[in-house]
Amino acid sequence: MYDIGIIGGGTAGLTAAIYGQRAGKQTLVFESANYGGQIVFSPNVENYPGIASVSGAQYSTNLMDQAVNLGAETKREQVTEVRETKEGFVVRTPEQEYSCRTVILATGVTHRHLGLEKEEKLTGAGISYCATCDGMFFRGRNVAVIGGGNTALQDAEFLANYCNKVYLVHRRDEFRGDAKNVEALKQKENVEFVLSAVPKEIVGENIVEGLIVTDKKTGEDKKLDVAGIFVAIGHLPKNEIFAELVELDADGFIKAGEDCRTSHAGIFVAGDCRTKDIRQLTTAAADGAVAALAAVKYAK
Ligand code: NAP
Repeated sequence: MYDIGIIGGGTAGLTAAIYGQRAGKQTLVFESANYGGQIVFSPNVENYPGIASVSGAQYSTNLMDQAVNLGAETKREQVTEVRETKEGFVVRTPEQEYSCRTVILATGVTHRHLGLEKEEKLTGAGISYCATCDGMFFRGRNVAVIGGGNTALQDAEFLANYCNKVYLVHRRDEFRGDAKNVEALKQKENVEFVLSAVPKEIVGENIVEGLIVTDKKTGEDKKLDVAGIFVAIGHLPKNEIFAELVELDADGFIKAGEDCRTSHAGIFVAGDCRTKDIRQLTTAAADGAVAALAAVKYAK
């Protein structure tokens, strides 16, 4: 029986593992994709206190090493069910079942899609949700980045280093992301801002050949000649399998306050998958610590 089963190996989950191990509890972290979570794809993290600058990949490696060196166990398995037992909970994956005294849900979020026709069909054929992963395939080509948050701004800056031209398409005139990132983009000669514009149609049957956007002010359509479309319009939770166990809000986030306690005793929640206003590395790390210490107390 593990003391704390942690579902999700991003910043929140791995921080929970660090705090759990340091409190003398045996933790088990489940991760179905990459350890580190979304931040692993960020080229440069510059807003984590005490670390002036680090790549998302390096940060994730450090975090993982720290948790494992403290004795956290990890399973690269997809959790399919959590159910209550007399002693605690059983966490099920396609491979095995694991008994855990308490559970921390740290499942993070997944990419929001544009919802355009052909978006799914052309994913991998010009549509991407990860500039750092796929940017090099578009060296010397024209691309569009959709979104106005820090991810879109950083993606556009990153792609400008490889691509002939980068269109940054955002639905408003003002950016949600940091002014510093906007300023950096303005210095790039091959970046064009396409503001107050929404993507309307993906051009191309088997491969992306362009993107039609509608100007929200004039109602006019314009075709951007791009071979790649990088979608960076935020994230959605993925908590459906826990819906019978813990209360979710209308958007699918797990309901909990700053104490990270869910509606179900013994189950805690940490990071972006929780109801909250600010989703940052720092708040994910803070949640990981709070949830782990609450779980440690509960396990006693
Ligand atoms: P975000 O901040 O939620 O921004 C999403 C952007 O997509 C917004 O500009 C939004 O427009 C736009 N959008 C949403 N739905 C859309 C739709 N259907 N069609 C067109 N546009 C749409 O998401 P994010 O950029 O992924 O960032 C998530 C969090 O991670 C943020 O807190 C961010 O600061 C943080 N982050 C940090 C770093 C770092 O280096 N530390 C790097 C990346 C991200 P509106 O603005 O009009 O709503």
